[in-house]
Order: sequence, then structure tokens, then C-alpha cells
Amino acid sequence: MTKSKLKLYNTLTREKALFQPIDAENVRLYVCGPTVYDFAHIGNARPVIVFDVLYRLLKYIYGQDSVTYVRNITDVDDKINARALQTFGKEIASGTLSVNDAIREVTEKTAKQFFEDMASLGCEEPNHQPRATDNITEMVALIQKLLDKGHAYYAKGAGGGEILFHVRSMKNYGALSNRSLEDNKAGARIDVESHKEDAGDFVLWKTSDQAMPGWKAVFTFQNEDHEIYGRPGWHIECSAMSERYLGKTFDIHGGGIDLVFPHHENEIAQSCCAFDVPHMANYWLHNGFLQVEGEKMSKSLGNFITVYELLHEEKVGGEKWSGAVVRFAMLMSHYREPIDFSVKRLQEAENTLKRLQRRAQEGESAGSLEAFYESLMDDLNTSQAIHALNSLSGSILKQAMAFLGFPSEFEINDLDIGLIEEKINQRLIALEEKDWARADKIRDELLAQGIQLKDNKDPQTGKRVTSFEVK
Ligand SMILES: [Zn+2]
Repeated sequence: MTKSKLKLYNTLTREKALFQPIDAENVRLYVCGPTVYDFAHIGNARPVIVFDVLYRLLKYIYGQDSVTYVRNITDVDDKINARALQTFGKEIASGTLSVNDAIREVTEKTAKQFFEDMASLGCEEPNHQPRATDNITEMVALIQKLLDKGHAYYAKGAGGGEILFHVRSMKNYGALSNRSLEDNKAGARIDVESHKEDAGDFVLWKTSDQAMPGWKAVFTFQNEDHEIYGRPGWHIECSAMSERYLGKTFDIHGGGIDLVFPHHENEIAQSCCAFDVPHMANYWLHNGFLQVEGEKMSKSLGNFITVYELLHEEKVGGEKWSGAVVRFAMLMSHYREPIDFSVKRLQEAENTLKRLQRRAQEGESAGSLEAFYESLMDDLNTSQAIHALNSLSGSILKQAMAFLGFPSEFEINDLDIGLIEEKINQRLIALEEKDWARADKIRDELLAQGIQLKDNKDPQTGKRVTSFEVK
């Protein structure tokens, strides 16, 4: 049976190993979700698409109702505060909108857009998408556990006090990212953060002023209760929410490679120390970096691409791309490989996808799914799985494409029609010029994309008119 042969590369052990769930009737997957202050960019979309395939594969292996997938929504963050102040500064200043309400406006709008974008990319919804702000009580309780066990301390710092995790209190801190405490020290500016006992210590809870979102919380330390109006640090929410929905130790934790340090390292520190467990998750999966046209994506370089722009605007390569094409462009590479996201890649994805869609629609059902599933079982090798699609056709191909989240229906968007009409005009000109070779070439190129041309005569003028149909 291929079913029991799923192998996954585990960042924690740095090797590919057979996946063995804690409970085959409830396989548990947690993936770090978006910080909702702006449109999701193409780098944000990669883990969502990659772990969507993993979710589908786990359901295939263990049963549709035997997988729990949780992806959080970070709706408390200083970037969100800044965006709310920037957008609603006037309303906040005049008192018509409170800071918390302004923040909610930003996060709800952004989260809604995120859901729409990810649905367009063919991603299924996780079973739970908890918001950080709905889990403040759980975070406060977790921080208290860390204080009680001597893994956290209160320090007076700039802007009010904060509660910090003490990295030196954990024996094997740094195991995931393979960093020693000395490595962390070397990179930190100690003078700026002199209230910390160790340079690598990170914030669990910090004081908020009135311009910041905040919650009243009471912590007990130094044998006294202290009320600290404040907000959580970034890492604590994932420890609190994964425990709430998946338990103290669960099967798979996923995210982008950029999250290994410090985010995932700190999640492990919090969860293992608070719950006294050797592992927060047994398998840690990380997708590779994404670049755009050979460069790091950044707003200052002007190569920052949002999913919305790709799908709804003509900013990238002068075209609107379908969600299926973007998804295909992502899955053409193995998830751990870096991706250079480019117009060329999108075009290649579009051509291949259309060719497959045509064969799925027209071809006789043929081929075996064995190589396809085997590729996915081998550390989610979507690149090879897509290659295996080449030997399939008809309904079997449809089945395999649907498994990867690709529609097998041929899609045609407005932009294609404009392009086709332009090609038809070019061909009519070629015919008028009696350049048969050029006319045939255009006709054949369109046919290769599944566009069949039909020549007719206009009954009034007797002139040639060409229409097309999608095969
Ligand atoms: Zn996280």
C-alpha cells in the first residue's frame, strides 16, 4: 500500500523520515497564518498553497474526517496598529473611532480579502482559523505558566514593563534552527535592550499605552499580583492556539523557512517549557524562499506582487492570471526549493495547464495514478507529480488534477479573448497579403492552445470573417 508510505523532511532532525501520526484518526496540522494589515503577497501565498496540498494528501491517506488543520490569523501586531493609525488617524484623533475599532476595521477587511484570494488560488479552508485577539485569555494563562516555572520574568524597559521569556532557562533552546545562545548574542545590540537578562530573550507580554490596543491582564510574579494593561508578543499566540485546538504535542507544524528563527524556535520554547513536553510538534515542515524575477521581493525595489494584483490587475506581464495558473506556477517546484517567480514561469504554467486541461476534457481515460501518488508521498514532490500527469488523460487525469486543486475545465478569461482577436486580425492581414505560411503558423499556434478558428464569408460583403471556439 502506498498509503502508509508518506515521507516528510523534518527540519528538526534534518532528514526525510516516514510520517507516523500520534493518532491516525485525528492527524493534526498547524500552519502559521497571515498578519492581516495589507494585501497578501505572492510570498504569503506559497505556504498556503503548499500546505493545502499536504492537507489534501493527509485526508486522502487517513480519511476526510481524520485530519484537523489549523491556521491562525495574527490580528494584533505593531504593523497593524501603524496601518490603523495611518488609515483612520483623523477619526481616532477626533474621537469618532476608538483605536480598537480602527484596528478591527483594518483586520476584518484584510482577513476577508485574504480568504477571497486564497479561495481563488484553489485552497481549501482549514478546519479552524482562530484569531489572536480571540485567544488573549489562553495566552495570559500560558504566560503565567512560564512565570510559575521560572522560564519568564518581568523587566522594566522603555515604554513600560514587559514579560520576557528567558532563553537560558531552556536547556536545548535553539535546536530547530541550530543556533546557540552565543550566536544570538553576537547579533543583538545589547546596549539598546539592557533590561534583558540575555540578548535572545523575547517578549511575551508588553505594556500598551492608550494609542495601542490592549487588554487588562493580571500576572502573578514576585509573590504579588500585577495588572499589566498590554498586548501579547508575536510568538505566544501560536503556542496558545495550537494547544487549544490541537493539544500540547501535535503532528505537523508548517510555515515558511523565514519563520524557523526566531518565530518557530520561540514557539517551541514556550510550548515545551509551559506544558513540560519534549516536542511541540513531531514534524516541522518549511517551504523555501520566493524571489521575483531573480530578486528579493521588496516594496522599495518595486517588485512587490500581491495576489490581488496577479488575479485582478494587469500589472504582471500585462495580463490577469487565473488562480489556477498561479497555483500551478507555485507547485511546479518542490516546496523546499527556492522559487523564482517570474512572468516566464506564469506563462509556462499557463501553457502546461491548458494542455493538461485539454487532454483531461478530450482524451480517452488512460494511465495509472501510481506514479502520481508516489511522487506526493515522497516529501510532497509536486514537481514530479505534475510531471506524472503527462502520462495520464481523460477522467484519470481529471481526477489527479482535482486532487492538486486544479480545475480540469478549460478556463478562458477576458484577456485571452482580446489576445485571440488580435491574433485573428494578424492572420487576416497575412491572408490578404497571401503570406500563407504566416497565416498557418498563427492558426496552428492558437490550435495548440485549444483555440480552433472557423472561417466564413460575410454574406453582405463577401469578405472572410473568422470566429473561434474553445476546444
Ligand atoms: Zn506561528
